[in-house]
Amino acid sequence: MLPINEPVLNYAPQSKERLALENALADCLNTVKNIPMYIGNEPIETEVLGKVVRPDKHETVLAQYHIGTEDEVHLAIRSALNARELWRSLSTDERARIFLKAADLAAGPYRMKLNAATMLGQSKNAYQAEIDAACELVDFFRFNVHFMREMELIQPISGANMLNSMDYRPLEGFVLAITPFNFTAIAGNLPAAPAMLGNVVVWKPSETQLLSASIVMELLIEAGLPAGVINMVIADGPTVSEIALAHPEFSGLHFTGSTKVFKHLWQKIASNIDIYKNFPRIVGETGGKDFVLAHGSANVSEVVTALVRGAFEYQGQKCSAASRAYLPASLWQQIKEQLLSTLAQIKMGEVTDFSNFVNAVIDEKAFDRITAYIDRVKDSNLASIIAGGNYDKSKGYFIEPTVIHAIDPMYETMQEELFGPVLTVYVYSDEYFEDVLSLIDQTSAYALTGCILANDRYAISLANKRLVNAAGNFYINDKPTGAVVGQQPFGGARMSGTNDKSGSMLNLLRWVNTRTVKETFVTPRDYKYPFLG
Ligand code: NAD
Repeated sequence: MLPINEPVLNYAPQSKERLALENALADCLNTVKNIPMYIGNEPIETEVLGKVVRPDKHETVLAQYHIGTEDEVHLAIRSALNARELWRSLSTDERARIFLKAADLAAGPYRMKLNAATMLGQSKNAYQAEIDAACELVDFFRFNVHFMREMELIQPISGANMLNSMDYRPLEGFVLAITPFNFTAIAGNLPAAPAMLGNVVVWKPSETQLLSASIVMELLIEAGLPAGVINMVIADGPTVSEIALAHPEFSGLHFTGSTKVFKHLWQKIASNIDIYKNFPRIVGETGGKDFVLAHGSANVSEVVTALVRGAFEYQGQKCSAASRAYLPASLWQQIKEQLLSTLAQIKMGEVTDFSNFVNAVIDEKAFDRITAYIDRVKDSNLASIIAGGNYDKSKGYFIEPTVIHAIDPMYETMQEELFGPVLTVYVYSDEYFEDVLSLIDQTSAYALTGCILANDRYAISLANKRLVNAAGNFYINDKPTGAVVGQQPFGGARMSGTNDKSGSMLNLLRWVNTRTVKETFVTPRDYKYPFLG
């Protein structure tokens, strides 16, 4: 039976969950957590320390973490390989039970801790933390268990006098999981999905997600994950990848992050190809330049809501965030007025004030990158800022939700991923709707998500067909964000990744090798076929 998605709690004032979350936030703020690496389930500490700070109040230190060197990377690989035989010898259901327990721990006793860490460490509001750190993580564990068991039911047919079967075994060697800052659930899923299938994993989380990553690791250990199955290494990216990708037993990369880093890792793997025992599996979900297309038949309030939620929830730091919009001239004035008046109501500030819809961007590097784009618009005659455009990093990394109106549909913010609270709109003449479909398809190198808002069924049908390669997740009359595990399997093609749809059986298939076994019951004893007679 298909699991049901973890229900999303609403955190209304005075609700039980609101009080529990407020307590968890206070606990998190009252201690500076010590975050070790976890290698062979042992906490490993070093002399070199880094700090996790609140993006929305950067003088507040939430945790200190221990930074590893080449030695810890080698240790993690050895620890994984040592665990391999015992781990793969467990049955599917024995492994499944550990991840189902992890799901129940995340949904229950760990829920508020995960949410508080994600709110403070990654600057998410309560709702954004809940749908990520609690619900999506739980869904990944439960649905992957379901898909893993279903997968093993896929068996070949058998003729008379034989039985054919296919067994599913983990990859030989270890899997390297490298995860981004923006989703606690993705960080947990990337090592967990291959591990569930019997693989052993070296996991390198992002430095800016370490607070919630450490809690994921604690809950997996409490769920009974044996030592060495997932080894969390804290070290800078190149230190980990130079060693792991040059190891003969490297068998797969499970990556989510930017296209640039993924291309670099792919090149490394290619240049090391003669070293490996197996051709490694390479799975990477990367950047996006996700579009909102409104047709002249669309409802204005629906367009505005899709733009505001799609572009500015979690400060636009979702790979699926709406960042370019194509709006019909016939509706533009109405859309603009409603968009500006909605943005005027939106509050920005610290995550601990629950009335804030928008919080801070992740760190200073991101702040500087995004605001440089905003500054260039201020000097451009191809685009202008019609909302927001102000920013301040004195206390936290705050950038106002910003709307750019581009005269040139190929302006840089229509093409490149900014990964921040910036939406660029292009207004088209209604009669050029078909041309706009080609424009959307050809403007950006990415193809992750996109949506159309329209009431005209012919327009919807045309967009659906013509944009088939432009998005791996296409939404009709909805915003392009908010994919739910089991409901909208997620991933895109072109420069958005290998499109292996995390949280579905398609992804799990990348982490197994299959062996076909044929047994014949009455075995021939004479080589001669009848035709020879
Ligand atoms: P990033 O590429 O900067 O970092 C991702 C991870 O790679 C981090 O852990 C980082 O430390 C590591 N890394 C960087 N250089 C490395 C190297 N040389 N060797 C090994 N590891 C290295 O991405 P980010 O800023 O954490 O996340 C944002 C990006 O992720 C955006 O581009 C976003 O679109 C993408 N993303 C995509 C999806 C998806 O499903 N398609 C989901 C979430 C995020």
